[in-house]
Amino acid sequence: MANPLHDSLIAPLAERYDTFLTLPDGTTLSGAAFFRMAERQAGALASLGLVPGDRLAVQVEKSPQALALYAACVMAGIVFLPLNTAYTADELEYFIGDSEAGAVICGPAAAGTVARIAGGVPVLTLDAEGQGSLSDRAAGDHPFVPAERGPDDLAALLYTSGTTGRSKGAMLSQANLLSNALTLAELWRFGADDVLLHALPIFHTHGLFVATNVVLASGGSMIFLPRFDADNVIRWLPEATSMMGVPTFYTRLLSDERFTSELTKGMRLFTSGSAPLLAETHREFESRTGHRILERYGMTETNMNTSNPYDGERRAGTVGFPLPGVELKITDPDTGATLADGAAGIIEVRGPNVFQGYWRMPEKTAAELREDGFFITGDIGLIDEDGYVHIVGRAKDLIISGGYNIYPKEIELILDEQADVLESAVIGVPHPDFGEGVVAVLVPRPGARIDPDAVRAGIAPRLAKFKQPKAIEILPDLPRNTMGKVQKNLLRDRYGAMFK
Ligand code: ATP
Ligand code: MG
Repeated sequence: MANPLHDSLIAPLAERYDTFLTLPDGTTLSGAAFFRMAERQAGALASLGLVPGDRLAVQVEKSPQALALYAACVMAGIVFLPLNTAYTADELEYFIGDSEAGAVICGPAAAGTVARIAGGVPVLTLDAEGQGSLSDRAAGDHPFVPAERGPDDLAALLYTSGTTGRSKGAMLSQANLLSNALTLAELWRFGADDVLLHALPIFHTHGLFVATNVVLASGGSMIFLPRFDADNVIRWLPEATSMMGVPTFYTRLLSDERFTSELTKGMRLFTSGSAPLLAETHREFESRTGHRILERYGMTETNMNTSNPYDGERRAGTVGFPLPGVELKITDPDTGATLADGAAGIIEVRGPNVFQGYWRMPEKTAAELREDGFFITGDIGLIDEDGYVHIVGRAKDLIISGGYNIYPKEIELILDEQADVLESAVIGVPHPDFGEGVVAVLVPRPGARIDPDAVRAGIAPRLAKFKQPKAIEILPDLPRNTMGKVQKNLLRDRYGAMFK
């Protein structure tokens, strides 16, 4: 029976007696042992009455058992729905209700609350050590016959990060996931000898699909750390060949003096995504280690869309070229017309990676997924003369002040160059005269004090008056979510009333 995602990514594990996962204490798990674990879980899920197409909501700590749940769902044809461990009971209630999950797996501490909000569906537990009522139920040793599935059947319902508003459920098919995994594994030259240092969460597309599926597609293994922790990452880097990270991983490593070129000499690839990597971080990383980080761009709805080249110039501050099989164009936000290279507009993408639509949001799907297959990403970008894609910001963060469109990134890049400024975020907040007023939020370098007048003087010759901030605020850090994304909505809430 066919089940493309299972046949290509999961089934090969059954015969792999070499290491698939290495855990922080040095213990290892073979591909075959992982496969049996997934088989037993698939049996347990079926025994709950779940059938192909049902959703399984999962909010658990990262562990081999938690990852095996993804494989078990693929095997059983169940739609995997992982949830951020930071979500509160109210948020969980929304996700469980919205998705009409057929069962929920959660940590032991949440079990009581989840049982109350889950509307009578079965609730099983899985703790950080991989123990709980799920594992108890999965104890029997029965081979599981994989469910029959086609390329267009849903494999996952993945909610977006909620950076710009309420999270939306992106329906991802088997073919969406598989096509992207095969493309990335080839483009980034992953092979059976690769050891990926995996410190990302597995409830998000980056750690779950980009990292895990690429390793599964190539037959490699992972050093599977529960979270990013500088001590553990530094301890394990010499055993790895590759690492996928969010920009904050790299800034945290660079701020640690134990992070040296010696430590990374066995590495062949560092990738970055989920949030913009500052060009300065890219350069500092190269001068420290000799490695040029490969930045790529994607999102929950599409998996990955673009990547800097493996061979060839990895250009700092850009996200590289569209992936093979992915079409990318820049369009006018008002007319939808394709813009010439060099002009900033909305990034639209089309390809086998693009999702099936938003779960139970037909209007939103119709508004963002064009009939011809192009997805309107909501990111603003441009294509430079060499074909590299640059992300300029998000459409929702665009500031309109006095009738002018202002791209925060342009101002942030100049602010970041000012003395004593570590990083910045530029937002628009309501202004009685201009509609929106530009506010710059600055973070000082460690031990430094920012002089706002000096910053104003420094940027004045380089930015038109209407782009210059009407207010400069200083914070010790920018608010970020688990993926290192700056939460500009929180800044807009905080400073929203300043011009009123
Ligand atoms: P929501 O859609 O709910 O507001 P979100 O867009 O942050 O949340 P994700 O799907 O996790 O949810 O993130 C995708 C977004 O992350 C992209 O649309 C883009 O804005 C940003 N992103 C991803 N990679 C990069 C990158 N390399 N550089 C800049 N931005 C990136
Ligand atoms: Mg989004």
